[in-house]
Amino acid sequence: MTATTRVPLLDLQAQHAAIRDEVLAAVERVFASQRFILGPEVEELERRMAEHCGVAHAVGVSSGTDALLVALMAEGIGPGDEVITTPYSFFATAGVVERVGARPVFVDVEPATLNLDPSRLAAAVSERTRAIMPVHLYGQMAEMGPILDIARRHGLPVIEDAAQAIGAEEGGRRAGSFGRYGAFSFFPSKNLGAAGDAGMVVTDDAELAARLRVLRVHGAEPKYYHRLVGGNFRLDALQAAVLNVKLRHLDDWTAGRRANAATYRRLFRDAGLVVAPGDDRPDGVVLPTERPGVRHVYNQFVVRTRRRDELRAHLQENGVGCEVYYPVPFHLQECFAHLGYSRGDFPAAECAATHTLALPIYPELSEEQMARVVDGCRAFFAR
Ligand SMILES: *Cc1c(COP(=O)(O)O)cnc(C)c1O
Repeated sequence: MTATTRVPLLDLQAQHAAIRDEVLAAVERVFASQRFILGPEVEELERRMAEHCGVAHAVGVSSGTDALLVALMAEGIGPGDEVITTPYSFFATAGVVERVGARPVFVDVEPATLNLDPSRLAAAVSERTRAIMPVHLYGQMAEMGPILDIARRHGLPVIEDAAQAIGAEEGGRRAGSFGRYGAFSFFPSKNLGAAGDAGMVVTDDAELAARLRVLRVHGAEPKYYHRLVGGNFRLDALQAAVLNVKLRHLDDWTAGRRANAATYRRLFRDAGLVVAPGDDRPDGVVLPTERPGVRHVYNQFVVRTRRRDELRAHLQENGVGCEVYYPVPFHLQECFAHLGYSRGDFPAAECAATHTLALPIYPELSEEQMARVVDGCRAFFAR
């Protein structure tokens, strides 16, 4: 295996090489100003994120986790309350519910998209339900129509976990603009990544935006006067400056991810490795499903196979980066044992946790590298 044929799961060096001068100039501007907390860079990013999402307000925060957390706090959700969400996502989605003292209530995912299954949602609503929190997993939007219908019928707010879905659309509308809140993460591996941790909450409601801004600074309004208890959820000016540069490139990067997904589909098909969803054949992969009418932004390109762990080992041994997102669904996590769930409660999530594998999909990936990935799969299934 030579160095040129290695394919990493993510190559942030390649992205940085293309924008290095712009990024460093932006960082230099912040150092020249010596304004490191909030300020004009953060305000500019908020304006542009609101515009990008098609919403009225955006509030920069310290991470995607804090974006979700501060939305729950703005709703006053706490002990005795329930929040309905998926059992299959990054930990933060359920972790924030527990952190405000509320109870996460899980609803299984749709087997095809691995997003919250709206047909199971109504049955999970109780007197204690205070919010519904769908996740747009891997960059594809959850089915917002029926989710919003059920939320409306019960008078519940929807908090979209759009951490993996910046720029994703359903029916031409952007992720984050459907619910009362949309939460975004700029963790470096997200489609728009900072040089560290950063996040954003978007909302159309001016009053809620104002409350989020107050909660972001310990609930102070004015300074040193506290009606609410918030936290330090502020976004750094340095992160905002980097993100202001990178946001200009996001549409191109998203187009690159989508083109790469199309290339993978062709390469896998040409290699005879595509297994239909529901087909139990062990000699190929199920490709990610794109729901009609959605724009998938491919934060991850996730395939499925019954022989997932063996395929992962084979690819890694052959210099192809890949990863399991996520090996343990929430209801089987040790820290959630007190919720009283058990194995078998959410079969689609459990199946996803044992069968899914994320392959490299970053925009700078070349067709030659993708061919390497598919060839690695071909060699594995031919063994
Ligand atoms: C990344 C991520 C988060 C958390 O974002 P951080 O910025 O890492 O705190 C939350 N939910 C999902 C689905 C994520 O992928």
